[in-house]
Amino acid sequence: MRAEIITIGDELLIGQVVDTNSAFMAERLNEQGIELFQITSVHDDANHIRQAVHEALSRVEIVITTGGLGPTKDDITKHVLCDYFSTDLIPSAEVETHVRDLYRDRPDVLNRLTETQWLVPRSAIILPNRVGSAPLMCWQLPSGKLLFSLPGVPYEMEIAMREQVLPFIHRQSSAIGCQSSEITHCTVMVSGIPESSLAIHLEHFEQQLPASVHLAYLPKDGTIRLRLSAYNVAHEQVVELKAQLMNLVREWLVIDEDVPIELAVGQRLQQLGKTISTAESCTGGKLAALLNRHAGSSAWYWGSVVAYDNSVKQNVLGVKSSTLNQAGAVSEACVREMAEGVRRLCGTDYAIATSGIAGPSGGTQDKPIGTVWIAWATPTTTYAECFHLGKLRDQITDRATMRALIRLLKILQ
Ligand code: ATP
Ligand code: MG
Repeated sequence: MRAEIITIGDELLIGQVVDTNSAFMAERLNEQGIELFQITSVHDDANHIRQAVHEALSRVEIVITTGGLGPTKDDITKHVLCDYFSTDLIPSAEVETHVRDLYRDRPDVLNRLTETQWLVPRSAIILPNRVGSAPLMCWQLPSGKLLFSLPGVPYEMEIAMREQVLPFIHRQSSAIGCQSSEITHCTVMVSGIPESSLAIHLEHFEQQLPASVHLAYLPKDGTIRLRLSAYNVAHEQVVELKAQLMNLVREWLVIDEDVPIELAVGQRLQQLGKTISTAESCTGGKLAALLNRHAGSSAWYWGSVVAYDNSVKQNVLGVKSSTLNQAGAVSEACVREMAEGVRRLCGTDYAIATSGIAGPSGGTQDKPIGTVWIAWATPTTTYAECFHLGKLRDQITDRATMRALIRLLKILQ
């Protein structure tokens, strides 16, 4: 069973809003074994929407659109679909009750524009939108193919997908005339080898993969995620292939499952019952932002000092003035003192410190832009390492953040 997504809205095509809806829907559809064939973004333009819907329905069994269901003049999806399916709008008592209920405490919202929300296409199946005013619409073609139209607001779309669309597709899969395929994705993360060298290293493994199994390389911030995707392949065979892959990349392996690195770090710290803090100069809080990203992180992540200016390194973290004068802020001695300082200050088991030259100015012959020192303080010792992480500011700080977490994970293991 194959699907397409059409996201509707001028804002997507001028770069004002990033299309996160597609990513969310693609992930959910894949989980259900529905292969996504194409994602299309179109303007709030009747012809453009119509053409995209028509083409998608000619290719796949399931089409899902998001956006353009609001009551304002720029929201035209409902009208375009009525026109496409040659149907008209009729009032729905259920949707009216729901919308009036939704805005019970906000009577000012119940104006003549909002009232258009309970006009629904006569030929559509209406599914409830628990958290918003725009009804979810579904059309089933004589061939069994399905078209869903969902709101653009991400949290409304997410709830609609989970509670309405996916269960509906599941119930209808026999009517559509094809079953979902069994799709399995396995991901491992490696670091410390260039992508091209890795590809050469894995050439033989890739050549002997069955046709229904693909290997993808996803490089980011100095790491590479290797994803095995298997379509209708026995679970045991996928497990065996993943084991072979892990064996081949053992030397560079960072994580053997598809979890973000900061979560892997957190899970490990939680298992050990240990805590961590950070002292950040060049990364400016990026480590802290990642470490507290997931619920429950307070159990192991205690705090951070963003020590950008030398006075903060010295006065808050206790870096010696002689260190700053002799070795400079971007030095092994400085990051060691920063890490040990923040570990003491926060009373944690572990600490990480970063200090580097992120540019675009400040580089010297000795310490060119991209030079980053990182230290890891542990209950028994402090490690430090120097990296050269590129030329662009964001690239350097993102890579430094990643290096800091990768080495920490190795230390914890
Ligand atoms: P509303 O009833 O709120 O107007 P709608 O169905 O008309 O909902 P849009 O007006 O298209 O939806 O979008 C509402 C908001 O949702 C936009 O401001 C945008 O921020 C967000 N949004 C829309 N489409 C996407 C998308 N594909 N990815 C991420 N966010 C989106
Ligand atoms: Mg809108």
